[in-house]
Amino acid sequence: MTERDTIVLRAALKCACPRCGEGPLFAGPLTLTLAPRCTRCGLDYAFMESGDGPAVFGILILGFLVLGGALLVEFKLGPPVWVHVLLWGPVTFTLAFLVLRLLKAALIALQFRNAAGEGRLDRE
Ligand SMILES: [Zn+2]
Repeated sequence: MTERDTIVLRAALKCACPRCGEGPLFAGPLTLTLAPRCTRCGLDYAFMESGDGPAVFGILILGFLVLGGALLVEFKLGPPVWVHVLLWGPVTFTLAFLVLRLLKAALIALQFRNAAGEGRLDRE
């Protein structure tokens, strides 16, 4: 693993700028909106587009975690239905937000690391 890979991994885990790994990637702590640019190194975030990737991966991961947790609680403890509603609603919402932030930061860091962009036809 190179130093650049380490910066990308750290940036994804910290939700930070993929170039310097220090500046915040998101506009605030409770949003999924990107900041306009890095406050540390000045990298313009306008080129970054993660598309539907975080949502797709998030659905798969959250489905496994929440459904597995609900089935485990049901078969081990057998609580009434209202316990499931009160428990899994907030847990799902909170996990979805955290997982989407982490996945969006990871996909943007990988996009930056691999210089990925839209596909273009080479017609010359
Ligand atoms: Zn930066």
